Amino acid sequence: MEAPPTTPDRTPGTPRPAAPTLSVVVPMYNEEDALVPLIDRLRPLLDGLGEPYEVVAVDDGSRDATPELLHGARRMWPQLRVVRLRRNAGHQAALTAGLHRARGAYVVSIDADLQDPPEKIVDMLALARRDRLDVVYGVRSDRGTDTGFKRGTAGAYYWLMRRLAGAWVPRQAGDFRLLSRAAVDILRELPEQQPVYRLLIPSLGFRGGEVDYPRAARVAGETKYPLRRMVRLAVDSVTNFSAAPLKLATWLGLASFLFCLLMMVFGLVAYANDVTVPGWASLFVAVLLLGGVQLICLGLLGEYIGRIYTAVQQRPTYLVAEDTADAPAPPAPGPAADPDPAARPAVSR
Ligand code: UDP
Ligand code: MG
Repeated sequence: MEAPPTTPDRTPGTPRPAAPTLSVVVPMYNEEDALVPLIDRLRPLLDGLGEPYEVVAVDDGSRDATPELLHGARRMWPQLRVVRLRRNAGHQAALTAGLHRARGAYVVSIDADLQDPPEKIVDMLALARRDRLDVVYGVRSDRGTDTGFKRGTAGAYYWLMRRLAGAWVPRQAGDFRLLSRAAVDILRELPEQQPVYRLLIPSLGFRGGEVDYPRAARVAGETKYPLRRMVRLAVDSVTNFSAAPLKLATWLGLASFLFCLLMMVFGLVAYANDVTVPGWASLFVAVLLLGGVQLICLGLLGEYIGRIYTAVQQRPTYLVAEDTADAPAPPAPGPAADPDPAARPAVSR
């Protein structure tokens, strides 16, 4: 299968360091406030594992001080690797960048806002090793700290996806999960342009386990998933995994055809009895209703055609401006190391 069109995973010619046991991929977008608490909690935990690890912080085109803070932290924490994307590519694309570049035998993805407890990484790793699993899903057993709106929309999302895609979609499993190297390598081969990992990964049928946790409140900052992005994720999820909306047009068409047959009989009877003058309201309603239904069906078709269009274009879903693992020398004290200043666009503010 053809590899997804992304930038090469390494700068040609740089030696590949030994693979760590664990990679922790953290996509972050404007997370300057969450970064220090995240590092304070993640580092002792990973150091305590007593095994080689790397933390792949994917800066998804942040406009705040996230990249500078990351580079600063890297000087004290050699296992921290910074992958900086050229522009904001979105959570799933940032995850793709991290998964494609992670080198660990196991790869855990986790949000930067500490809503998912990093301590569970240890449990995930132990479970994967004990039961020889390819995936361990973090399952939110309690979303008490989320807003009622978020809980409601999330409940509707998982219900709809289980109905449309299949019962293999784990309930309340987001993007906090562990993957084995074998699973990551398979994901890297897939030509997905707009992956929705929480559906894509279960659909591949890996041997999976679950680790439950109560979802905490965001440690700092605001959610980076406003309603617009939530709707986009839901539309991507549906169009990625189900053609059912396309069939809606057929069913609506059939229903209106049957209704028309009834109305025809009604019309003929009315004509025969010479009572055909009133009818403005029914005509008006019928025209509006059918117009609306047709537009909805066209819109649904458009969503799928849009996906085909994006797939045919084969444009990269993210572009990497910098990966500190590609830097020829270890970072020196002073200004942050920059392997390719020419390729580095100014950090937009
Ligand atoms: N994120 C990202 N790119 C984006 C939006 C979000 O990398 O365009 C990251 C964000 O920094 C966080 C994770 O994705 O680490 C989940 O986002 P967030 O916590 O805001 O979502 P929520 O938990 O509110 O659904
Ligand atoms: Mg969050």
